[in-house]
Amino acid sequence: MLVAIALGSNLGDRAATLRAAKRRLRAEPGVLLVVDSELYETAPVGGPAGQGAYLNAVALLETLLSADDLLALLHRIEHQFGRVRSAQDGPRTLDLDLLLYGDAVIQTPTLTVPHPRLHERAFVLVPLAEMGDAKELRHPTLNKTMQELHDALPIEERREVRKVFPKIEAPPTLAGLTAFVTGSTAGIGADIAKTFEDHGATVIRHGRFPRDQQRYLYGNLADAGVAERLATEAWDAAGGSLDILVCNAGADTLTGDAAKWSFERKLQELLAVDLVGTMLLSRSIGSMMKARGRGCILTIGWDQAETGMDGDSGQLFAAVKGAVMCFTRSLALSLAPEVRVNCIAPGWIRTAWGETASPLWQERVRRETPLGVWGLPEDIAAAALMLASPAASFLTGQTLRVNGGAVRG
Ligand code: ADP
Ligand code: MG
Repeated sequence: MLVAIALGSNLGDRAATLRAAKRRLRAEPGVLLVVDSELYETAPVGGPAGQGAYLNAVALLETLLSADDLLALLHRIEHQFGRVRSAQDGPRTLDLDLLLYGDAVIQTPTLTVPHPRLHERAFVLVPLAEMGDAKELRHPTLNKTMQELHDALPIEERREVRKVFPKIEAPPTLAGLTAFVTGSTAGIGADIAKTFEDHGATVIRHGRFPRDQQRYLYGNLADAGVAERLATEAWDAAGGSLDILVCNAGADTLTGDAAKWSFERKLQELLAVDLVGTMLLSRSIGSMMKARGRGCILTIGWDQAETGMDGDSGQLFAAVKGAVMCFTRSLALSLAPEVRVNCIAPGWIRTAWGETASPLWQERVRRETPLGVWGLPEDIAAAALMLASPAASFLTGQTLRVNGGAVRG
């Protein structure tokens, strides 16, 4: 079911709250955030005098939840973000309204859909009309599109809704440091690279194929000699002094053509890229870091490698990622005290596979994750930032499970 919701905040760090709320929706099993709008600033409508201006946004979700369950989820999220229901139209840290639920018309004591004031609210219709996917959605009782409802509003009201781009102030935790992140053209690697850059690092990216891009190296880690070549190239690109290496590159055997490969072929590919690629690259760069006297290396394991998971994928990842986790500890001992080496073991993270995983998987993620939501690539990036930062200077040889609290086995 395609659903439109509105987000609003006029208390506290409004932009941070709205971003965090969108992020929370992106992590919810059974909910897919299809597209979300920019942020818009508007004066408050009604309510007690003197309250601050609102930041608003809209989002389209694809969901398996019923309208009632979705409203309950929206209320839970409002509550988590400190919403206190006080005066009618009073100030709030977060307001989440259900605007449209497909073309359903619902009228119960707790839920009215379409939202009763949708057609009169410029702060909802302006963002909807500026989103390609949303402007053609039709109001089921007024029988007009969002664009048409928008156009029917007085121009002065529309002009009051201004797009804003609040800056995120990231502390320069990694200022002056250079990082090489393998497999950073998409997914978790891209988030790690972006996060490091946001915090002041110079990042050298890597992908399998050539690209016309500054500070970018390429090569398939499954191919002979590539790890050693990349080690030299990354060291040179960093001006002879690389500070951080993230061995993130991993073979995708879950989506695309590779999903149909035989067990043995998947195993060969995972061993070649995830294990041998990580070992050769981190050994080469690690010895250069050690000789230079400092450095930090991160590898990527898997939280269920130690506890076991049934099925082919469980066997494959347990063997390969378990080996990476064990290798990491030995490398940490070899490279101490100059170089710190740690492993991040992700749990259920919503990468390309997680976005399209079946309802059964969505339920399984909820069941097996005490925090009840998917991890997001940025959760792994946040852990990588912490491990790479000076705050982690006494941490080496550790495996950090970033998995929403799952302590199976
Ligand atoms: P508002 O969003 O109108 O400023 P609240 O967020 O406090 O005010 O919502 C008041 C009540 O409105 C909620 O308890 C909820 O049950 C009810 N409600 C009815 N229809 C909707 C809807 N489409 N979206 C969100 N809340 C709704
Ligand atoms: Mg509301």
